[in-house]
Amino acid sequence: NTQNQTPHIVILPSPGMGHIIPLGEFARKLIFLHNFTVTFTIPTGNSPSKAMISYLQSLPKAIDYTLLTPVALDDLPDNAKIETRISLTVTHSLDAIRDALKSFTATKRVVAFIVDIFGTDAFDVALEFKIKPYIFFTSTAMVLSFMKHLPELDKSITGEFRDLPEKLKLPGCVPIHGKDLLDPVQDRSDESYKWFLHHAKRYELAEGIMVNTFEELELGALRELKLRKDWPPVYSVGPSIQNNMGSTSPDDDEGPEILKWLDEQPHGSVLFVSFGSGGTLSSIQIEELAMGLEMSGQRFLWVARSPSDGIANATYFTVQSINDPLSYLPEGFLNRTKNLGLVVPNWAPQVKVLSHGSTAGFLSHCGWNSVLESVVHGVPLIAWPLYAEQKMNAVMLAEDLEVALKPAFAENGIVYRGDIARVVKGLMEGEEGKRLRSKMRGLKESAALAFSENGSSTNSLSELAQKWKNN
Ligand code: UDP
Repeated sequence: NTQNQTPHIVILPSPGMGHIIPLGEFARKLIFLHNFTVTFTIPTGNSPSKAMISYLQSLPKAIDYTLLTPVALDDLPDNAKIETRISLTVTHSLDAIRDALKSFTATKRVVAFIVDIFGTDAFDVALEFKIKPYIFFTSTAMVLSFMKHLPELDKSITGEFRDLPEKLKLPGCVPIHGKDLLDPVQDRSDESYKWFLHHAKRYELAEGIMVNTFEELELGALRELKLRKDWPPVYSVGPSIQNNMGSTSPDDDEGPEILKWLDEQPHGSVLFVSFGSGGTLSSIQIEELAMGLEMSGQRFLWVARSPSDGIANATYFTVQSINDPLSYLPEGFLNRTKNLGLVVPNWAPQVKVLSHGSTAGFLSHCGWNSVLESVVHGVPLIAWPLYAEQKMNAVMLAEDLEVALKPAFAENGIVYRGDIARVVKGLMEGEEGKRLRSKMRGLKESAALAFSENGSSTNSLSELAQKWKNN
């Protein structure tokens, strides 16, 4: 009989650091604040990245993990999108998930089963064991609102979203151009759109949806979502981000050198430049970025990856580049900027960098975790979206919250050096930068309040914990 045991939660993350980290941090809160135990059950499409393993190993003992047998996706065309790959990784893992749940339920009191954005196909397996399925939404309330409305929009809109003449007005959200909506809806004939719509339709089957945001950040969108009676209850439980003790470094040798370099820089002088775990630029864009940073005359710390022409998220599943990224920088660049900049390959301890006193700006791909980390540490942004829902995040940051500058993307998608230098200077030393910095400071304070005693996210989490314990 498992009735008297510590309540246990099973979490099924999608592969990718941007999913594992926020779920890991959410799990940490569940065990420390509410005494649950947790198992991560992880579907994998290829061998799991070193960054993911080192992160999982850094979690407390009450959080266990099992890696499911890697599934073969060899029959997919090379151009299959990330959303398709992740969704298929989950559907091909359903038998393994069933076996895992069978063994957990034999010895543990499993009270909830949590998937993230693309895991809804596993709901049915949880229900076979009478376990209630939940979603932890690793993006914004605005994207969640889009998913809520997608089934209707799919029926009412003909043609492509990007060709809509008017901006789309989601309830409580900043109006957005169709071309800025997330990647999988940019081509409705692509498999990734079908998968996205499939998940969107299944969201109503969840017992509840947790979203990694907080009331003060997305007041309008959350209020509308929470009002709806025709959808599962929505709980804002963010920001769920790494604290600066966490270790995600696939190569622990790099971290200390980076932090030592930051220690040596003047207070509030460095622009951190990084495109998340998967972001890659084209060779010409790398060259323009290098020259733009140099022209700006500002200090910078740049996490560089090898170019990947044509794919913006080439290292999403692996994190590491194959070739030495530093060999793609313009001739003489490292030498000319050696007193102002540091370029490191592939990975940096991002949260430690953002919380460092020398860091004053973040040129980011606007992955939602990166955004939350920047908010929590009060660092204003330059929004350089690359893939997934990052363009939506960039619009919210620049136009609604006013904590980010946007460089100009030319017709061909390139940002040229002159414009890079302009936004970098604008953020780091201009009047505009000061305005953004002070707005960001306000958000930093409200982020801290959300998780204080009786804060909005603390209360949502307690409500959920109570519900699960009563199960
Ligand atoms: N990250 C890091 N060092 C890096 C790149 C990424 O620690 O060099 C972490 C980052 O702090 C964040 C996560 O990896 O927690 C990336 O998530 P995000 O949503 O920003 O972007 P994604 O990688 O999913 O596109």
